[in-house]
Amino acid sequence: MDATESAPAPDTDATTDPVVVSGIQPSGRLHLGNYFGALRQHITLHRQHDAYYFIVNYHAMTTVQDAEQLREHTFNVALDYLALGFDPDEAALFVQSDVPEVTELMWIFFNLLPTSTLEKGVSYKEKVDAGLTPNAGLFNYPVLQAADILAYGGSLVPVGADQKQNLEIARDLARRFNHRFCPDDDPLLPVPEPHILDDVAVIPGTDGRKMSKSYDNTIGIFDEGDTLEGKVMNIVTDSTPLAEPKDPESCNVFALITLFADEETQQEIADKYRAGGYGYGHAKQELHELIEDHFADARARRKDLEQRPDYVRDVLRAGADAARAQAKPILEQVRDRVGLIRTR
Ligand code: ADP
Repeated sequence: MDATESAPAPDTDATTDPVVVSGIQPSGRLHLGNYFGALRQHITLHRQHDAYYFIVNYHAMTTVQDAEQLREHTFNVALDYLALGFDPDEAALFVQSDVPEVTELMWIFFNLLPTSTLEKGVSYKEKVDAGLTPNAGLFNYPVLQAADILAYGGSLVPVGADQKQNLEIARDLARRFNHRFCPDDDPLLPVPEPHILDDVAVIPGTDGRKMSKSYDNTIGIFDEGDTLEGKVMNIVTDSTPLAEPKDPESCNVFALITLFADEETQQEIADKYRAGGYGYGHAKQELHELIEDHFADARARRKDLEQRPDYVRDVLRAGADAARAQAKPILEQVRDRVGLIRTR
C-alpha cells in the first residue's frame, strides 16, 4: 500500500484494561491554563488505570534550545506533578528521552505518514503564525506524539480538545501500521481513544486572551508573593468606576474566581459586582487569596521536594524503568514485523 492511501484496518478493542498515556511539555513554568485544562485531570486519572505520564523534553526542544533551561524546565514539571499530588506508586512518571524506543518508533512511523497530513496540522500552523521557527521538529511533532502513545501500547489518551487532531494522527498511524505489517486477525498496535478532558472553558490570561506562555499572559501555578500579587493586580479590566454596578460575566477576574471559589462564594461575589461600590481591586484581592489558599498545601510540598532532588530523580528513574519494560517488548515486535534484522 502506498503511504498516501487510506488504511482501513480492524481497530483493536481499546475498551478493556486501558493503558493510559499522556505527556506534558516542559517548555516553561506551568500555568493556571495548564492546571485546569490538563494537570488537574491527569492527577485524578493517574490512580485509575495502568498509566504512563511523561515529560516530553524532545518535544520541548522544538522551542527550548538552551541546555540549562531545558534541564530546569524538565525538573520543574516533575516537581509540579509530585507537589500537586501525583503518586509515583500509582503510575509511572518519567522523562521522554529516557526511553529511546520512542524515537526509534518515530522513524518507522515517518515512513507510513504522507507529509500532506502534517501540512494540514492546525497546531503547527498556529505555532508558526505565532512566530515560532517552522523547523522540522515542529512539523513532525505529531509523529513523535504518536510514537509516545503507541510505544507503550497506549489505548486511552487524556487530552485537551486542542489535541484532538494530533490524536487522530496517532490513530491513523496505528491503523496504517497494522494494515501494512500485521495479518488482519493479529493487529499489533491498539488504536488509541481520546479521553477528552472535562469540558473546561479556555482559561483567560491576564490580558483576556487565552492564557498561554506564547502570549506572556500567564499566572504560574506556583507563583507566589509579589510575583503572584503583581500578576493578579495587572489583570485587564474595563474602566467602570468603583461606585457603579459591574457585570461579572464579562470580567476576566471573575472568570478566574469561578475556577477557585465554591458556588456560594461565587454567588456572593457576583452579587457584590452587580450591587456597585465594589471595585475590580477588591475582586483581585479575593482572587489572590483564593489562589493562595488553593495551592497552599501543594506549595509546601513543592518546597520540601526542592530540597530532595535525589528523591525526585529516583522517582523519574523508576518511572523510566517501568516505561522501558513496557516499551521494549512492543518494539521487539515492531522491528520483527517491519523486517529490521537484529544481529546482536
Ligand atoms: P501553552 O499555550 O502555554 O504553550 P500548552 O499548549 O503547553 O500551553 O498546553 C498544554 C495543555 O494545557 C493543553 O493541551 C491544554 O489541555 C491545557 N491548556 C493550556 N492553556 C490552556 C488554557 N488557557 N485554557 C485551558 N486549557 C489550557
